[in-house]
Amino acid sequence: MQVITTCAEMSAACRATPRPIGLVPTMGALHEGHLSLTRQARADNVTMAASIFVNPTQFGANEDFSTYPRSFERDLELLAAQGADLVFAPPPSEVYPDGFDTWIEPGAVAEGMEGAARPGHFRGVATVVAKLFTITRPDRAYFGQKDGQQVAVIRKMNDDLNLGVHVVTMPTIREPDGLALSSRNAYLTPEQRAAAPVVYRALQAAESQWQAGERNASLLQAAARSILQSEPQLSAIDYVSIVDANTMAPVEAADDAQRVMLATAVRLGSVRLIDNVVLA
Ligand code: AMP
Repeated sequence: MQVITTCAEMSAACRATPRPIGLVPTMGALHEGHLSLTRQARADNVTMAASIFVNPTQFGANEDFSTYPRSFERDLELLAAQGADLVFAPPPSEVYPDGFDTWIEPGAVAEGMEGAARPGHFRGVATVVAKLFTITRPDRAYFGQKDGQQVAVIRKMNDDLNLGVHVVTMPTIREPDGLALSSRNAYLTPEQRAAAPVVYRALQAAESQWQAGERNASLLQAAARSILQSEPQLSAIDYVSIVDANTMAPVEAADDAQRVMLATAVRLGSVRLIDNVVLA
C-alpha cells in the first residue's frame, strides 16, 4: 500500500496503476461505515484507492474542524487490512495552496437541509470531490447513503460537469441499536449516546406509516418529529424533511413512482447528528 501526500504523486500513481480504479473519499477516523465502502471498492476494482483528508472548506467558522476526530495511524492499518493499494492523505496546503480561488458551486440540490443549516458546506464538498476525481480519475467512486444529500450533490455535479465517474451509493451502516455510525458519535456523552437511537426510531416510525400507505409528507414528518420531541436529551431538531431522493426538492404528497428520502438533523448538546431513510 502506497501512502501519498502530494497531488502530483497521486496523479502519477493513478496513471501508472491498472484499471479499473475505485476511489473511496473519507475524512478518516474510519469505522465500519467507511469500511463497507472500501470493501465494495476492493471487490469491484483492480486498484482500490482511499483518501483521508479532513477538508477545511466544508466546515463552517463555528464548526468542529479543529476538533474533528483524527486517527491516522489506525486508519492506515485498517486500509492496509482492507487491501487498499493507494492512500491519498495530503495536508490542506497541498489541496488549497496559497491563492487557490476556484470553486464548484452546487445549485438547488444543495439549497435545503444541510445546505441551509451549513452555508458553504456543499461548495466545499463539491470542490474537494471534484479535485479528488481530477487527481485520481477513478472509474468508480463510493459514497454512503448516510450523507444522502451529499450523494445527491456529487451525482449532480458528476452529471452536470461530465466527470464520467460511476458513483456508487452504499447503504447506511448502523450500530445494533440503530444509531448510524459516524465519526462524530465519539463526541456523545454516555447519556447522549443512550438517547441517540431515537433518531433512527423516529425515521422508522414514519417509514412504517409510509409502508401502511400514508403519502402525506406533513403527516409523515409529524410522526417522526413527535418521537424526536419525546427525547429530553435532544436540544434541537434542525429539520425533518421529505424530499425527492435525486433532486432534494421538498415533496408534499409523494407518488409511488418517486423515490423519496426522509432526512433529519438533530442536536444533542453541541453534537449534531444526521440520518435518513429512503422510502420506496
Ligand atoms: P466522512 O469520513 O464522514 O466524510 O465519510 C466518508 C464516506 O463514508 C462518505 O461517503 C460517508 O457517507 C460514508 N459513511 C459515513 N458513515 C457511514 C455509515 N454509517 N454508513 C455508510 N457510509 C457511511
